[in-house]
Amino acid sequence: MTEPGEIEAARKLFSGACDFIWGATSAENLPPESLNEVAFVGRSNAGKSSLVNALTGRKSLARISQTPGATRQINFFNLADRLMLADLPGYGFAKRSKAEANSWQEMIFAYLRRRARLRRVLLLIDARRGVMDSDREVMALLDRAAVSYLLVLTKADELKASERDPAIAAAGAEAAKHTAALTGIQLTSALKGDGIPELRVHLASLAQ
Ligand code: GDP
Repeated sequence: MTEPGEIEAARKLFSGACDFIWGATSAENLPPESLNEVAFVGRSNAGKSSLVNALTGRKSLARISQTPGATRQINFFNLADRLMLADLPGYGFAKRSKAEANSWQEMIFAYLRRRARLRRVLLLIDARRGVMDSDREVMALLDRAAVSYLLVLTKADELKASERDPAIAAAGAEAAKHTAALTGIQLTSALKGDGIPELRVHLASLAQ
């Protein structure tokens, strides 16, 4: 169980300053590592921008830095000088060519290997869709980079109450097949707020 004190401390952290500091267009121009870091990754439309905004209580943080077309950027946000949030470009567009998919993988793998202070990756999965093949490819990449990651199911409000436990169990079974995946699964709704305090506590424990 998460303690009320932990929830409050994490809420305070995430209500502090959160400033966009840098958009990296390649793994060659990443910002210096001044803080512990956590990265957010997921299929396009998985709900990444909405989740980052819900965590930080801002309406448009993750969008502000998104130039239309510049989907390949890694955007960095400094959270209260205690934690760096890295918003990785989305993947899994059906129209994307194999070459594009490869260059996405290369960029992300180079990022993962370079960030000594990367403490966690949050892999966002649309709860209605569950883990898809493109997610499994990214999970294999994360295993290879040996970066521990948490599966975060998004859009919980779109599930019926009876669908929640099966969705968590199915994601847990996927996580169990991967060496670097944490076994716990976090179900969230950016819209309704489910799981947001708990996810903040998880991230706050990695801050300095
Ligand atoms: P991104 O492409 O991963 O950054 O995804 P967005 O945050 O832009 O969200 C993609 C779509 O899913 C948008 O239409 C959002 O309104 C919707 N969405 C995101 N989070 C939630 C949620 O918690 N509940 C519901 N019902 N829809 C959501």
